[in-house]
Amino acid sequence: MTQEYTRAYWENLLAGLKPKGRHFIDGAHRPSASGATFMRARPMDGRPGAELARGDSGDVDAAVAAARAAFESGIWRKKEPLEKKKIMLKWADLIRQHGEELAMLETLDVGKPIMASLNVDVRLAAEGIQYYGELIDKLYDEIAPTGPNARALVRKVPLGVVGAITPWNYPLIIDAWKLGPAIAAGNSVVLKPAEQSSLSAIKLAELAIEAGLPAGVFNVVTGYGEEAGKPLALHMDVDMIAFTGSTEVGKLIMGYAAQSNVKRVALELGGKSPLVVFEDADLDAAASAAAWGCFYNSGETCHASTRLIVQRSVQEALIEKIQAVTRREITLGHPLDPSAQIGALIEENHMKKVLSMITAGEKEGGRRVFGAERVMDETGGLYVSPGVFVDVTNDMKLARQEIFGPVLAAIPFETEGEALRIANDTVYGLAGAVFTRDMDRAHRFSEAIHAGTVWINTYDMSTFATPFGGFKQSGFGRDRSVHAIDKYCDYKTIWQQFGSASFLKSKSI
Ligand code: NAP
Repeated sequence: MTQEYTRAYWENLLAGLKPKGRHFIDGAHRPSASGATFMRARPMDGRPGAELARGDSGDVDAAVAAARAAFESGIWRKKEPLEKKKIMLKWADLIRQHGEELAMLETLDVGKPIMASLNVDVRLAAEGIQYYGELIDKLYDEIAPTGPNARALVRKVPLGVVGAITPWNYPLIIDAWKLGPAIAAGNSVVLKPAEQSSLSAIKLAELAIEAGLPAGVFNVVTGYGEEAGKPLALHMDVDMIAFTGSTEVGKLIMGYAAQSNVKRVALELGGKSPLVVFEDADLDAAASAAAWGCFYNSGETCHASTRLIVQRSVQEALIEKIQAVTRREITLGHPLDPSAQIGALIEENHMKKVLSMITAGEKEGGRRVFGAERVMDETGGLYVSPGVFVDVTNDMKLARQEIFGPVLAAIPFETEGEALRIANDTVYGLAGAVFTRDMDRAHRFSEAIHAGTVWINTYDMSTFATPFGGFKQSGFGRDRSVHAIDKYCDYKTIWQQFGSASFLKSKSI
């Protein structure tokens, strides 16, 4: 029987929830060595959230030691591929079986609507682990071309201990983007989730052990970036940091890698993505994409379509349609209400930043057409309504800085050249889109936008089969797809010489 989800059902589940807020090291929940903890307010209503272990370098050392021991023992990396695959597939199944609890942990931490947590975040986390589990017994190494007297194997080998540092906006999904390929490749992982969103990571680790992943292969250290993330990124026994977060912290991570052991770094950073609409476009489709592309997850999305670059002749009609789509479809509500499409922002400081960007936008000459204001404050929660600014120019803060709130900035243009110049006039290069019925222009334009992903007449389509990541200051390295495995591996060449050929002779093989 399919469960009918009501607000009362979720309230009840929340009332019975006992989240575990400790580190997960070497297969077990552990408090911080220092005994320190921290708490934060729930975004949905401002009430106290879970108590979490406040990790520091001592806890990071313990987690890295456990990860290193698991890696060196070969208990995971040397397992038969079929065996490893079975464990990862079981892990994916357990994520689905515990979907309601995981969804509730996510919603409790970050304030996103429970139905989105369940139907999007939990689903995609399970798909991610499954995708890389299924890859394990389908990856081959290479034999390089040589003469007949030798053989050169080109092996793809795991790096060792991977540190993963992740943000709070899609915790489960982004954790799975790192864990799936890193663990499938044979590495051990120490994950430092954002201080705001640790609960689902801890549960993921618990489920991994239940699925049969050996202790020490996946560890979680909770805590603050400066106290737990920095020692992880500076650690001499960590071989790589896979980071998703702001460009500002991404730059620090590169510095930590350079200051320590020249560990490898992969960075998925910020964005200010353009959605370009020409006057010949299907305006209904463009309006739907612009509204959902910017407002989904309350705008707390790295690749949100925050800059609407629209041909002046259709700007007014398009904005009217965006307003209609927003009113009709993008219901803002309490995260436990199953009809809510968007929920609360992550925390008070962040909401203040979003509101200050809105004020700055008005001061700089942008005109607010609708929304973009604090609402539902009587709940104690952190809610800002989705809204649109027009009369924005690309040099205003609204167009240059990540707002990470539900605010769309419309910038008009006259010619294709001007549209392209505005689209690319940003330090970021994560994503972009073009809406036009002229397919020559669509392809010309999509090639010319400097971004890791470009959509034509749609927005935010993705599957695990496609790589995701940025150009320019949106970072480097790719999550998702078979290519994501590469960044968690290194090539190792093994030469073998046959017969009695001398060393010098072998040089000319
Ligand atoms: P953030 O402030 O950069 O934090 C990201 C992670 O880094 C958190 O775990 C944070 O810990 C940690 N951290 C902070 N300072 C650190 C330091 N000095 N050393 C090591 N770790 C440190 O980003 P956020 O606010 O969580 O997330 C929003 C940002 O992520 C946006 O810029 C968004 O565009 C980006 N993002 C990018 C993608 C992508 O795929 N390109 C996807 C999602 C989000 P604390 O939580 O304790 O600060």
